[in-house]
Amino acid sequence: MSVLSRVWRARGSTAAATTTTTSLQTLIFLSRALSTSCENTGIDPKAKAGAAAALPLNNNNSKKKKEGKGEGKHVQWVFLGCPGVGKGTYASRLSNLLGVPHIATGDLVRDELASSGPLSSQLDEIVSQGKLVSDEIIINLLSKRLEAGEAKGEAGFILDGFPRTVRQAEILEGVTDIDLVINLKLREEALLAKCLGRRICSECGGNYNVACIDIKGENGNPGMYMGPLLPPPHCASKLITRSDDKEEVVRERLRIYNEKSRPVEEFYRRRGKLLEFDLPGGIPESWPKLLQALNLEDPEDKQSVAA
Ligand code: ADP
Repeated sequence: MSVLSRVWRARGSTAAATTTTTSLQTLIFLSRALSTSCENTGIDPKAKAGAAAALPLNNNNSKKKKEGKGEGKHVQWVFLGCPGVGKGTYASRLSNLLGVPHIATGDLVRDELASSGPLSSQLDEIVSQGKLVSDEIIINLLSKRLEAGEAKGEAGFILDGFPRTVRQAEILEGVTDIDLVINLKLREEALLAKCLGRRICSECGGNYNVACIDIKGENGNPGMYMGPLLPPPHCASKLITRSDDKEEVVRERLRIYNEKSRPVEEFYRRRGKLLEFDLPGGIPESWPKLLQALNLEDPEDKQSVAA
């Protein structure tokens, strides 16, 4: 049985949690997941080596993958990192390179919001305050996405924005093995500016950023420059801002990340799966270094960095 099927099978129970009748299956599944505490797993003192062992040796089928149709590497990776760090940007580039789906739970939430379905008003209130959606709802949305992908023959995934709580990480661990968790890190002072500068093309969904971050080096700390990622002319007049990219909401999201998601880093660190990656600057500096850290090559590096 494929990994995705196993995730999907688990879905039956988690999905039910969003309905008024809580099934016995739901309770059994969730309590089993909750009892799988990270405390009873050994700490891998060689976290870095452990992560490296999970890395692919090469990606020489990446060209084939560009042609699509399920030729992707069967990687099961997770991106962690604060709001605004660039999870979506790098996860989507790696997804193109490796030919595996990039699944961002934030996108799933926004799609659900836009669909005006039964959950949308509830989600609107939560997201606009910068709070986390319940584990049950998020797992339900994720499971539906995985089911749809499985039907299309997708293999592997790069998750972005999930897991975001230790409980979500435990549930995920209960249904599948994650090979590698990439923890993107960026200096605190850049995160808020990057969220506030984020723009999305309302037509094609392209992600851009108008912020120009130029931190001067001082007291022995190096400076950092991140140029804006400006839209092409055909998107420029169609840019919108995410409703939760307002200053007070971003601050709340950062606070919640520290409270609920920081422990997820430790969860994977203890399992030797966490690859820490400090972004050295914008895409032109960071993308080649990230590829290097992952032991990957991008045959179209020049074009993609310039994109
Ligand atoms: P961010 O830029 O803060 O990383 P995302 O686009 O990943 O934002 O998510 C947007 C919102 O969707 C979050 O603030 C949260 O309300 C909800 N969300 C996304 N993923 C999860 C998750 N795994 N658990 C709970 N809520 C989530």
